[in-house]
Amino acid sequence: MGEVLIKLEEVRTHFAIRKTLSGKPSAWLKAVDGVSLDILRGECLGLVGESGCGKSTLGRTILCMAPVVSGAVKFRETSLQGLNAARLRPFRPKMQMVFQDPRAALNPKMTVLQILKEAMAISPGGCKGKELQRAAQLLDWVDLRAEHLFRYPHEFSGGQQQRICIARALATEPEFIVFDEATSALDVSVQAQIINLMADLQQRFQLTYLFISHDLSIMEQVCNRVAVMYAGQIVEVQAAHLLFVAPRHPYTRVLRDALPVADPTRRAELATLRGEVPSLVKPPGGCRFHPRCEYATKICVEVEPEMIVLDSGNRVRCHHYQRLWDREALKTLSLT
Ligand code: SF4
Repeated sequence: MGEVLIKLEEVRTHFAIRKTLSGKPSAWLKAVDGVSLDILRGECLGLVGESGCGKSTLGRTILCMAPVVSGAVKFRETSLQGLNAARLRPFRPKMQMVFQDPRAALNPKMTVLQILKEAMAISPGGCKGKELQRAAQLLDWVDLRAEHLFRYPHEFSGGQQQRICIARALATEPEFIVFDEATSALDVSVQAQIINLMADLQQRFQLTYLFISHDLSIMEQVCNRVAVMYAGQIVEVQAAHLLFVAPRHPYTRVLRDALPVADPTRRAELATLRGEVPSLVKPPGGCRFHPRCEYATKICVEVEPEMIVLDSGNRVRCHHYQRLWDREALKTLSLT
């Protein structure tokens, strides 16, 4: 295992959705509920799960943009919880976010130069007097031209707008960037260009990424490891290439089997997801996935599974992960 850049320890991010007459919270939306996770320096960690499972909230939690009710988020061993605004300030430029909708993320009344200058103002190195030069360099890194500095966001295509958002993230000299569904709104061809750009920048600047997506198919090309999230919890962490060959959690298997297959005769062997996404206000007892799981037994309904640490840091939260693992291993053997 490499050096840990970000460490999450039993993090809970809950939102009060109802209050009593005296103002006390009476119901909570548990968007992130007991997440422990390491993000290694220089890796791209994927975070995948259905819409509404808490992925984006987890990204925001790491960037101190969501209310943590318990647990700790550590950046290079410094716990960010409880730091006041002044003590948090040096960490802000080091951690950036690129959002799904670049149009909404860019101020339509500002030119690209103004947008980049605003971000550069919080960069630790500062670049007083050299903003124009630095802004042109940032655009060059994302394959845009210096003449684009004087245009407004609406004058660009969706892909170009996302490049401007990436340039803005780079302007603060970050170490860590969260890409929150950053390619989901783009055409497939543009998606591939942005993914290639992300990979180039990661290598050039030794960046660490959290790549959030609901689309598992993209993870194999982009990520080193993938964390699978279900109903506010991480249920599996696995090397990206292994996740497709031998998923250890039944939910991961269903996500994998939902991907398009070239051979339609194989469709019948594939697992499908039944039922609805569970409520984050009142998640099911025991294993949260049990109402939708084909392997569920009595223990799954009654006892919440612990996160089990497997070889080389891989993790799974399932009472019967070994059964699924054996089954997938047998299938792989019979295919070879
Ligand atoms: Fe399915 Fe049980 Fe594993 Fe949960 S613990 S994923 S219900 S087999």
